[in-house]
Amino acid sequence: MKQGWEAVIGMEIHAQLATATKIFCGCAVETGGEPNSNTCPVCLGLPGALPVLNEKAVELGSRAALALGLEIQAESNFARKNYFYPDLPKGYQISQYDRPFSANGRLTIMTAERDGHGHATEWKPMEVHIQRMHLEEDAGKNVHEGLPDVNKYSYVDLNRAGTPLGEIVTSPDFRTSWQAYDYVNHVRRVLQWVGASDADMEKGNLRCEANVSVRRIGETTFNNKVELKNLNSVRFMQKAIEFEIERQIAAHEAGEPVNQETRLWDEKKNETRVMRSKEDAHDYRYFPEPDLQPLAVTAEFIEKVRARMPELPDAMRERFVETYQLGYADASHLVSHKDLAEYFETVARITANPKLAANWVLGEFTRELNNSGRAAAAVLVSAEDLAELIITVEAGKINNNQAKEVFAEMFATGKAAAAVIEERGFEQISDPSAIAAIVDGVIAANDANLAAYRGGNEKLFGFFVGQVMKASQGKANPKVVNDILKKRLG
Ligand code: ZN
Ligand code: MN
Repeated sequence: MKQGWEAVIGMEIHAQLATATKIFCGCAVETGGEPNSNTCPVCLGLPGALPVLNEKAVELGSRAALALGLEIQAESNFARKNYFYPDLPKGYQISQYDRPFSANGRLTIMTAERDGHGHATEWKPMEVHIQRMHLEEDAGKNVHEGLPDVNKYSYVDLNRAGTPLGEIVTSPDFRTSWQAYDYVNHVRRVLQWVGASDADMEKGNLRCEANVSVRRIGETTFNNKVELKNLNSVRFMQKAIEFEIERQIAAHEAGEPVNQETRLWDEKKNETRVMRSKEDAHDYRYFPEPDLQPLAVTAEFIEKVRARMPELPDAMRERFVETYQLGYADASHLVSHKDLAEYFETVARITANPKLAANWVLGEFTRELNNSGRAAAAVLVSAEDLAELIITVEAGKINNNQAKEVFAEMFATGKAAAAVIEERGFEQISDPSAIAAIVDGVIAANDANLAAYRGGNEKLFGFFVGQVMKASQGKANPKVVNDILKKRLG
């Protein structure tokens, strides 16, 4: 960012709550169905149809709220947000306005400065104020046929209408695009972690908008802000914010106006462009939804939800650092996905060797996983099987290179370590008398090198090790080979 300027960024995230049915009716939440097949009078907005709140949406909303440090309100209200759009058949969206479901969130995230390649340098905690997360219904979708300028037909598909959303709104706390990036990643992971949302931006079940303005450092008032939409990935979002910051600074410095408007990110041109001038809240004519009771959430309900919450990733990372003495970077990688974290922890417990368990999970396991394109949960090698393999290596029954081969086979086929070791004849020879016999044979067959070694050519030690390994077909335990060779060669 240009010297003397700072950005002021607030984030709004719409997260689809992972319920099986819609928020105010019993229609299934599904993607890919025949257009308008998952609909009923309620989500079609037919006259006289009455909404009934889905309790599961409240439960998942509660999980999300707790994971984000929000206070769930004992009572909240639904409200009608009025606007006209073809994919909104009622002419209003049922949302929440002055009394949201949850408010007052204090969330600590980790955020980092980035170098020119976007690589994080030093991670630091940052406290984010989340003003609110309210519950609302999603709209349907307009589908346009043909090229943007020559549309012949537009269609309305209401399968998505009535899908439950949590809208998460922060204060304008972010000063750089990377802070916003780290925040969205944090929210995304935490929502997935607690099962509140699939939070997949590509599938559209997590959508973010960024409100961006800039000001000279030292200024305390806000300049006009621009709302950025159409951000299909966290990386595009970061780029869009960065572009917008530079665009606004240039405009202010040139004395040109920065209009309060909504802009879209054009990922092909790498720039933002105007979509429409921004509505104010009063344009929506919010008023309380007369068809729904206020939503009362009891303390018992919240406690029940809290009791079933998993340990959150940041807490888990700290615990891994403290109890297992892992480095911050390793622990962070392990908690990047809940399945991976749980997998690691099972391996660590069984092997009683967390360091080695982390090495395997972050090394061979992750490599095979990335190559396969599978999710950690779909892997054929159970944590117990990997632990068994690690124990076998530690006991000196097979060496590290053999273990890697064994693991690759386990990963591909799901076979247990012992079975693969036996099939491949990898059982390592550690018996000193068996190895001594091989050593003696090698020494007897290499008179000249023996003399040279004893004459002072110490490099030849490696030659003898190699010969013994070869004679044992790679099965001899290298440590025992070394010990015996040292004695024999004298
Ligand atoms: Zn319906
Ligand atoms: Mn909304």
